[in-house]
Parts: sequence; C-alpha cells; structure tokens
Amino acid sequence: MAVTWHVLGAGSLGSLWAARLARAGLPVKLVLRNAERLTAYEANGAVITLVEHGAEQHVPVSAQIAESVEPIERLLLACKAYDAEQAVANLLPRLSPNAELILLQNGLGSQDAVAAKAPHARCIFASSTEGAFREQDWRVVFAGHGFTWLGDPRNAAPPSWLTDLHDSGIPHEWTPDILTRLWRKLALNCAINPLTVLHDCRNGGLQQHPCEVATLCSELDELLACCGQPAAALDLHSEVQRVIQATAANYSSMHQDVTQGRRTEISYLLGYACAAATRHRCAVPHLSQLQERLVQHLAARGLRTD
Ligand code: NAP
Repeated sequence: MAVTWHVLGAGSLGSLWAARLARAGLPVKLVLRNAERLTAYEANGAVITLVEHGAEQHVPVSAQIAESVEPIERLLLACKAYDAEQAVANLLPRLSPNAELILLQNGLGSQDAVAAKAPHARCIFASSTEGAFREQDWRVVFAGHGFTWLGDPRNAAPPSWLTDLHDSGIPHEWTPDILTRLWRKLALNCAINPLTVLHDCRNGGLQQHPCEVATLCSELDELLACCGQPAAALDLHSEVQRVIQATAANYSSMHQDVTQGRRTEISYLLGYACAAATRHRCAVPHLSQLQERLVQHLAARGLRTD
C-alpha cells in the first residue's frame, strides 16, 4: 500500500505540496496546528484551493492534528525554520522506526535541530526555488515555478518515493551536495535580504549600493571557505548581482515579513552565518555589523529578533 504523505503546516509551501501530491491520487494528510484550525479547515470543506496561472483548482485533502494516533512513516515538514524543532517534538510518539522527514525549511540550523530531536528518523534536506503565497487560509497561489533539490548529508542513496514527486509534477533532483546548495542559498540571502530591509527597497534598489554588496560577498566567500564550503562560494558576487538584476522588481521575503509585521527567519540565515563565523574564528566585521543593524531594526518595530 502506498505510504501516506503527512504534511505538517498548511501554509504556502505545505499547501502547494499537499495539493499537487493529492491531485496525483497519492494519499496525503495535513497535520494542522490544533483542533481550532482543524475545525476551521473542515468548515471550509476540507479542501485546498490551488491558484496556478490564474486558474483555481479545489483539491480535497484530509487533515488531522498532531495528537492523532496513526503512525507517521513519511513527514513533509513545511513550517517555518523557527517552528520546526517543536513541531517534530510534538510528533515524536507517532514517528515509526523507519520514519523519513523531508525538511523544506530555508537557511541552516533547523535541520540539525530536527535531526537531533528525532535521531532514528532519516532526515532529507530540501532547497527550493519554487514560490508560493497564502492568499487566505486554505488558498495558495503558485507564484513562481522553480525547482527543488533534495539530499541527505548522511546517506547518498535516493529514496524510492521520488517517483511520487515525478507523478505529481513536482520538479526535483536528488543531489549528494544538498549542503552546498543550502549554503549557497543562505549566502545569497545574506548578501541581499537584510540590505533590502535596512534600505527599505526592492531587490533592484541594491544597485544603488554596489560597494556594500561587494564587501558582504567578499566576507561570505571567506566564511564559506572557513566552513569547508568553497563550492558554495564560486562566483558568488556575480550571482548576487545577477539575482539583484533578475528580481529587481521584487521585494525579498525578509522585506515582506518585516512590512507585514511577521517574524523573520534571521537566526537561520544571517544569524547562522555569524554564529558559524564565530565558531570558525573567521573575521566577518561587515556581516556582524549587518546583523546588529538588522536586530536593532526589528526590535524598533516590535518584531522578534531571534
Ligand atoms: P507559512 O506560509 O508561514 O506556513 C507555515 C505553516 O506552518 C503555517 O500554516 C503554520 O500554521 C504551520 N505550523 C507551524 N507550526 C506548526 C505546528 N506545530 N503544527 C502544525 N502546523 C504548524 O510558511 P512558508 O512560506 O510555507 O515557508 C515554510 C518554509 O519554506 C520556510 O522556511 C520558508 O523560508 C521556506 N520557503 C518558502 C517558500 C515560499 O515561496 N513560500 C519558498 C522557498 C522556501 P498556522 O497557519 O496555524 O500559523
């Protein structure tokens, strides 16, 4: 019998994955935060609405809460990085001995925290360039088609369920270098997102601050080398410039979080980079100063700084 995809978090990415897996006929169960959210979901018809190219599709997906008893063999963790460890802790009694966890969180740090919480589970890390946003509860807009890399730093063998992703039309690739991918994305994020918040601009606005961007890229180059991730540093500055140009009209995810008064994932991005620099005794004065400025900026707006 096909293994059920338990999807924790019916937010942007969780809904996008759950809807695509379910519409391909695969067994999917959403794991919602609490009984109140479950009641609200069921009152809405227990359906996720997926909006793609302007067309909407209503996909029935059953749901439950963490306290349900059915064992979990495969869990797609689709919450924010700062919620990941606690979310898995809540589900520990339900994880079967060979459970597999697929971790969609951005940045670094949450994956290790989850793996430490669930040492017997296989943890598969993901890095995605897909973009989605929640227009309202249970309704997600597939805004940016992209790609998802998956890998397991402790075991290079691909899991058998990649065929489920293929059948669901989820573009993906299994990679032995998932940590390089995650570090690369983290470095791009550190060079762009905090500055867009501090200068209150779209990504393209950073074209007015070329020296600041270049200095950060050079420190990130050094940091990646110190952390044993030289491949993640290759041509970083050129790629940062390319991304700034290609996404000039967009607001970064961190900028959107701040303007909408939401908690950011700073501790798993710039915070993780600065902590790694301290651990490796790698001097990154501009990154550290950037972190201080960002923390002050968040605190001044009453937002969490961790
Ligand atoms: P999101 O829209 O905020 O969704 C997170 C969901 O997790 C929310 O629905 C939240 O529930 C739920 N949740 C948190 N703790 C939970 C718990 N203990 N039990 C059940 N549900 C819980 O976040 P997102 O944008 O999908 O992002 C998820 C991760 O993917 C982040 O690390 C993000 O950086 C990364 N990512 C996102 C995108 C994107 O386009 N959105 C792209 C690439 C990477 P409530 O609804 O009840 O609050």
